[in-house]
Amino acid sequence: MRIEHALLASSPKSPSIMSMAVETKPQSNLCTDHTGEMQDRRVVRASQSRSGGKGGYTDVMFALGVTQSREAQGLSLLYAKYNKDPKEREAAIERLAQFAIKQAPKLVGKASGRQMARCMVLLAKLAVDDFCRTADVERARCRCGGTGKVYDLVATKLAGHAVEKTCQRCHGTGLKPMTSAPAFKVVKGLLPELSQPSWNRNWQRFFDMLISHCCQDASAAESVLGRVSRCDMI
Ligand SMILES: [Zn+2]
Repeated sequence: MRIEHALLASSPKSPSIMSMAVETKPQSNLCTDHTGEMQDRRVVRASQSRSGGKGGYTDVMFALGVTQSREAQGLSLLYAKYNKDPKEREAAIERLAQFAIKQAPKLVGKASGRQMARCMVLLAKLAVDDFCRTADVERARCRCGGTGKVYDLVATKLAGHAVEKTCQRCHGTGLKPMTSAPAFKVVKGLLPELSQPSWNRNWQRFFDMLISHCCQDASAAESVLGRVSRCDMI
């Protein structure tokens, strides 16, 4: 099961729980929710999850519970990214802002002065949103069309059939590389005296570090989730 599916399956509002329940108990009326309305099953089909045994609903919930207790931040980030869950996004931003306040380089702290906390919240918000970009949003896609792969022309010619390689522009993510220009603009709104050279020198690397930190937390959560559930995640 892919991580997105595990997360979608666990969301209380997710129709997929209903789909899974329906698969287990075909005669039940669980396809209506507590308001009695029919559920729209567009998210994850129960058939995408192996019913019973490993990968079943209970196993997914157990695995998510363990991940929550060990890698809460990473799990919030994954929910924010794949489920577009606004509450988890807020929680992730709050934790990242706390981390940013503690980790901010001296010069960043000095330049932001009394606006420190507000600046860190803004940076955390931008970093989380950057992490949450997915290639299913058209404007976020790289020139490889969001696939992260391009044809390797030399190898294709040599082999006599189409050979693909990882896209060099996006390094396989399928996403347009982000610039830190929007972040600079936002912070400058709070600190009008902040200059571009000073941003480049003292702030940009810190901002990039916050984004990397999100990636690390998320992959730590993914690996706990994978180990616990033994899902065949890609
Ligand atoms: Zn690309």
